Amino acid sequence: MRIAVGGIHTECSTYSPVLMTVEDFRVLRGEDLLNSDYFGFLSAEGIDHLPLLHARAVPGGPVSRPAYDALKSEFLERLKAALPLDGLYLAMHGAIKVDGMDDAEGDWISAARAIVGASCPLAVSYDLHGNVSQRIIDQIDIFAAYRTAPHIDTRETMMRSWSMLVEALRSGTRPGVAWARVPLLLPGERTSTEDEPAAGLYRGLADINRRPGILDANLMVGYVWADEPRATACAVVTGADKEAATKAVEEIAASYWFNREEFRFGSISGSLAQMLGIAAAPVILADSGDNPTGGGVGDRADVLIALIERGWRDALIAGIADRPAVDACFAAGTGGILKFRVGGSLDTSSPSAEIEAKVVRLDDPGPATERQAVVEAAGIEIVLSARRRPYHNIEDFTRLGLDPRGVRLLIVKSGYLSPELAPIANPSLMALTDGVVNQEIEKLASLRRERPIFPFDRDFEFRPSARLSARWI
Ligand SMILES: [Zn+2]
Repeated sequence: MRIAVGGIHTECSTYSPVLMTVEDFRVLRGEDLLNSDYFGFLSAEGIDHLPLLHARAVPGGPVSRPAYDALKSEFLERLKAALPLDGLYLAMHGAIKVDGMDDAEGDWISAARAIVGASCPLAVSYDLHGNVSQRIIDQIDIFAAYRTAPHIDTRETMMRSWSMLVEALRSGTRPGVAWARVPLLLPGERTSTEDEPAAGLYRGLADINRRPGILDANLMVGYVWADEPRATACAVVTGADKEAATKAVEEIAASYWFNREEFRFGSISGSLAQMLGIAAAPVILADSGDNPTGGGVGDRADVLIALIERGWRDALIAGIADRPAVDACFAAGTGGILKFRVGGSLDTSSPSAEIEAKVVRLDDPGPATERQAVVEAAGIEIVLSARRRPYHNIEDFTRLGLDPRGVRLLIVKSGYLSPELAPIANPSLMALTDGVVNQEIEKLASLRRERPIFPFDRDFEFRPSARLSARWI
């Protein structure tokens, strides 16, 4: 049996003016794909896995059309060369926006279907922050999405989708997919599965999963910072029985809708001044509107400006993406003093701060895009990175000689904190800062979403109605 493997995986805020290019993607192809840790689970007796192309990028702005076209055409070339196939597995995110094109995953998956033909089973795995369309559902036979946010079940989710495909091939059966849109869009920070009501809703999926005729039950929160028609939450179920799948989908959709007023930010309490007064350390403040892992630009200096204005000291900001500032630090050298502007290097509308800083440390792993600099200005340490990136793992700090536990106030660009930072926060706070992934979503322009949609609209009735994949009718 021959299963081809590939996909494209990122998340794009349509509010960001900073387009992604091919250089933003880490591309796995050929043997590198099969040997990667990410796809390390691909092993089953009697199955040959044929690696295509898998492109993955830190979330950001829309993908430029030339970048998308280049990745897609290489993927399709490799897919053609891999024929004949018994199955195709695609590891997707689900929230790509291509500049000038809606429903990019619909485009990608349809193009793959056209090559493999109608009889080839096609399985996908998704991030629960992905957006789904009828066009996508009509091309696929198997769907599985994360059930945790923060995402700690990435590999399990990929394995769920791939295992259903292997099982279908071995048994000669063909599963199908049912789904129902829910006109509800909430940020991931209000729908973390660490907090209620999302925790309970996702726990409930396991019960639905055990019913006869159900193979895989999913609740998709969707991606709120995409102002495009397909952006909604939805329920998606892979099943062996249409009636059971239809019922399950409508149930999941109805329970999400029923709870719509209950989703709140999980970790906000008290003001920063209060926290700093009572707390041990470190207080970790999430600069949520500029979170690169949610699609934020990551170049904003709002919090730096606020700290300087208030005269805060003993704070660490990690980090601000600013290539010119990093280059200036490298030119000055360690110990150098320089006066420069930090912030606004990618999005000219991002705020910036004029500071006098001392270069404390330079990190030069090779490519200029990977460089980082640590500077100190007015008692505040600032990590500057040449490219957009998060500082969500302890190793991101220790590499730079920094101890995230040892500072009084740590500012990271993040939504809910990462699994490594959350346990050391004492306590954590989320600042509802400005940016292209602003958490106060009701304030965002909503020009292209299908209306009505909660919370942009509040006064309307909704009853879920399941639809089957065209391949399952
Ligand atoms: Zn996600």
